[in-house]
Amino acid sequence: MNDSFDVIVVGGGHAGCEAAAAAANLGSKVLLISMDLTKLAQMSCNPAIGGVGKGQIVREIDALGGYTGIVTDLTTIHFRMLNTSKGAAMWSPRAQCDRMLFSTEWRKALEQIPSLLLLQDEVIDIDFKLNKVTGLRTKNGNYFKTKTIVLTNGTFLNGLIHIGKTSFPGGRIGELPSYGLSELLKSYGFEIGRMKTGTPVRIDGRSVNYNKLVEQKSDTDGKFSFLKEIKSSLKRKSCFIAHTNIRVHEELKKGFSDSPLFSGRIKGVGPRYCPSIEDKVNTFSEKTSHQLFLEPDGVSTYEMYLNGFSSSLPIDIQYKALTLIEGFEDVNILRPGYAIEYDFFQPTQLKHTMESKLLENLFFAGQVNGTTGYEEAAGQGMVAGINAHLKANDLSDFILKRDQGYIGVMIDDLVTKGVDEPYRVFTSRAEFRLLIRQDNADERLTPIAEQLGLITKNRLVEFNLKHEKITNLSKVINSKQVEPNEINNYLEKVGSVAITQKRKLKEILLRPEVSLKGIIGECENLITLDNIVFENDTIECVETKIKYSDYIEKEKLLSEKFDKLEYITINQDFDFSRLESLSTEARQKLMKHKPKSIGEAKRISGVSPTDINVLLIYFGR
Ligand SMILES: Cc1cc2nc3c(=O)[nH]c(=O)nc-3n(C[C@H](O)[C@H](O)[C@H](O)COP(=O)(O)OP(=O)(O)OC[C@H]3O[C@@H](n4cnc5c(N)ncnc54)[C@H](O)[C@@H]3O)c2cc1C
Repeated sequence: MNDSFDVIVVGGGHAGCEAAAAAANLGSKVLLISMDLTKLAQMSCNPAIGGVGKGQIVREIDALGGYTGIVTDLTTIHFRMLNTSKGAAMWSPRAQCDRMLFSTEWRKALEQIPSLLLLQDEVIDIDFKLNKVTGLRTKNGNYFKTKTIVLTNGTFLNGLIHIGKTSFPGGRIGELPSYGLSELLKSYGFEIGRMKTGTPVRIDGRSVNYNKLVEQKSDTDGKFSFLKEIKSSLKRKSCFIAHTNIRVHEELKKGFSDSPLFSGRIKGVGPRYCPSIEDKVNTFSEKTSHQLFLEPDGVSTYEMYLNGFSSSLPIDIQYKALTLIEGFEDVNILRPGYAIEYDFFQPTQLKHTMESKLLENLFFAGQVNGTTGYEEAAGQGMVAGINAHLKANDLSDFILKRDQGYIGVMIDDLVTKGVDEPYRVFTSRAEFRLLIRQDNADERLTPIAEQLGLITKNRLVEFNLKHEKITNLSKVINSKQVEPNEINNYLEKVGSVAITQKRKLKEILLRPEVSLKGIIGECENLITLDNIVFENDTIECVETKIKYSDYIEKEKLLSEKFDKLEYITINQDFDFSRLESLSTEARQKLMKHKPKSIGEAKRISGVSPTDINVLLIYFGR
């Protein structure tokens, strides 16, 4: 084993795998150290990738040359495009994967990268010289020199698992926690907090009466990766909807006195938007039922995940309550639900590159930054991995802005606002939702990734082909005039008013009930382009660009306006206490977060538009 690296990634979760792959694919000599190499990119909770906001992140990772989308596509057993009844900005892909295959495919992908080495060990100490990374030490007695380190320890730092009255150390159920790194970084002045998350029971699908549940079938197509040849050959499985009832709630309440959540034994803050079932029953006591989703865990197992029933109540209470749900009368539990508390580092201590402000060449990504979710972790991993490579090779930073992607929104939120509960991505966090849609991630990010050197030839060829088609199809639609006899049959079919004279096709397409796919499918020979076949994603992209063109332009203008604020820089040593016209809260927050520009200052919670005006008057001078 070589003893000197450009980048060492600590932790082989979703953040660590993307970070290691990105740095190695860019040409760095990378070592990925993880406590258990059979659990790379382990899905600690639901084996599902994507969803609202999260699906957009996966598309972005893919467009940047990452692997989460590819591995998801190879292991998909259920796929749905969410929010299709809403506008294009809200469409979000989500897939249920085979848990075991997901980890196996990730390992295969990592093993194919020549400059990436894997090692099963635990990192227990890091060396710094003049506050700059020099190397690290492992539990098995290894010492490695390295230029940069990416920490992605997930839920493992001082991890403590709770089930009812029982608590025991663990990074995940069945896995040991990691000690030492939190204490080490605390001694360097890092602010550390405690968070918690939970997971529901896993049950034996053979013990469920599916006749009493509502089936939710998978879409027949749909995928994440831009690469056409990547697709799942696995059989699609259905998900099912179930409901709790009053009797279930009464049974759960019997366990409240033994709940680590209500007794105060769990001190960490949990995700408000993803509460445990006991939290829901307690907080929404007027509700007589909560919806649950029973989701498959894999293609060759009967194990099922009960989404919405996360719990750390005693196992006998979890079991009894379950048997009172319709369809679950004879249920068998494979694994109990549990909660876990762990350390995280306040992300305001990071730069936008994910490098620590306190210790040079030390990067952080994933759950250690107070986020929750595989996608959030993987997105940060990508950015941290790229920047660790760039730093190790004295190259300039890679920063994604808020109008370039959800990854940019997330990182900017983390480093400027910090977190007081587990952070997850929502579409509502983005101000430029129409610019950063799931369908245009490749257009936004693949050219950037190509410049970095992360894009394969295959992808580039496919990318250029798709965008040539988009340009040509858009040109035709923007210039085409249609006669009534060419389109009225279709318009009638979709309940749209017939045209009486020649009209611009573009204008007709603006009608909400009219779709480009419909026109191409139904109006033979109306749009012909040298017999070119247009794939669904190309058609969707052109349609969105045309239908939403006015709104997209407005967002572009707004983002340019915001951009200008980014160029008004603030010296890192600036003493905000000098500006007496600032509110006290703004002064304190600005002194704490030390924004580098007016743009960053604007995004700090507690800094009002009036405070920004004060800054503009001062710095604008
Ligand atoms: C019980 C539970 C429930 C969850 N529920 C949800 C949920 O409902 N929704 C949701 O979005 N997310 C949930 N999550 C979170 C989700 O699993 C994480 O967000 C995601 O896995 C984070 O990825 P990561 O790469 O940051 O860390 P992890 O996936 O936790 O991976 C960390 C990796 O680091 C390794 N490691 C740790 N310390 C060391 C060390 N010192 N040396 C070497 N290797 C080390 C570990 O072995 C592990 O491989 C849950 C997690 C848990 C544990």
